[in-house]
Amino acid sequence: MNAPLVHQPPCGGIELRQEQGQRAVFCGLTGIVWLHRKIQDAFFLVVGSRTCAHLIQSAAGVMIFAEPRFATAIIDERDLAGLADANEELDRVVTRLIERRPDIKLLFLVGSCPSEVIKLDLSRAAQRLSSRLNPVRVLNYSGSGIETTFTQGEDACLAALVPDLPREADAAAPSLLVVGALADVVEDQFLRMFSAMGIADVRFLPARRANAMPAIGRKTRYLLAQPFLTDTARALEERGARRLPAPFPLGAEGTTSWLRAAAETFGVSDATFEAATAPGRARAETALAPHRERLGGKRVFFFPDSQLEVPLARFLARELGADLVEVGTPYLHRGHLAAEIELLPAGTRVTEGQSLDDQMDRCRAERPDLTVCGLGLANPLEAEGLSTKWSIELLFTPVQGYEQAGDLAELFVRPLRRRALLEV
Ligand code: SF4
Repeated sequence: MNAPLVHQPPCGGIELRQEQGQRAVFCGLTGIVWLHRKIQDAFFLVVGSRTCAHLIQSAAGVMIFAEPRFATAIIDERDLAGLADANEELDRVVTRLIERRPDIKLLFLVGSCPSEVIKLDLSRAAQRLSSRLNPVRVLNYSGSGIETTFTQGEDACLAALVPDLPREADAAAPSLLVVGALADVVEDQFLRMFSAMGIADVRFLPARRANAMPAIGRKTRYLLAQPFLTDTARALEERGARRLPAPFPLGAEGTTSWLRAAAETFGVSDATFEAATAPGRARAETALAPHRERLGGKRVFFFPDSQLEVPLARFLARELGADLVEVGTPYLHRGHLAAEIELLPAGTRVTEGQSLDDQMDRCRAERPDLTVCGLGLANPLEAEGLSTKWSIELLFTPVQGYEQAGDLAELFVRPLRRRALLEV
């Protein structure tokens, strides 16, 4: 079953393999850590076990001491044994929560492995609670490890928002929707950039507030800001919105191509586009130059984690001169990543899925200069003398756009610099 399956075109000039087996990845619950910071009046209630509560607490770290907007309703033995009506318990917990926290305007019931295994119907619960707690909206999605890997939790959350978005009239002027949770500072930069191009009506999904979610309709053109939004894109298409194909806004090149996709659709002239983007591009180039010296010629290995691997590999190879040993990704959406695949160096080895032991063997045999992987693999590989970059940081740090291009490169340079310092 794990014999590599070498794909034929249309996957560009890459060598695409698929493998299955043991995996070392997060479940989709992790997305709550960055999503709750983005939607400032939303609360995420995981319906799960103590394991789920521990996962969220360790991923969120010190944030659990601030007034958190996430929690776990723990399914205990009485629920599992069928002695208690889990729905009644859930209603009680949610009602108490909303009474205590009037600041909450949107509540997500987040499914987990245990809630799925006992077949707790959270979508019915969300409907029931929505009408009871009106005007608080209650939605549900699954972040379980059975159904979702890491960033797919964000995809499931945004996809749950889409049917609820206001409807834009068909006669409305075309609008641009940027899809994917971005740091506020990055969002503001993009807004300024679009406005300099004369694209005034730009919306973001998710919005920062529950009552400010964007209206969508047949005139909506959307740009994905993240590569892992398969279900969200499908839900948007069902409501008439159309995707603008583009690489992702990582690095100077990715950002320019991403912005250009919008500029072409909205009829922005070349001169205006140039004037709007040239200063940012120049700043990004300046910020990247010193990192090129450190990363040029370095051999990089990506373990699958977030689906950001392909755009990151493209950035490292083309803008910083790194050599790609292997680019692992948990899932490769051929359509959304078509522009990225085209930009990868010919013959790049891309692996979709994971067979952990086989991949560890390949990594050890290659002894790359830098390995991008999850927290579970990082320390063991460091102990074997390999430099690693924790991939989770790439989700918690603002990395998109011109102004962040240098910071993004710095994230990869830091482990190399640290090792060099320790070795002196
Ligand atoms: S949802 Fe599943 S994989 Fe995630 S923490 Fe809970 S039990 Fe573990």
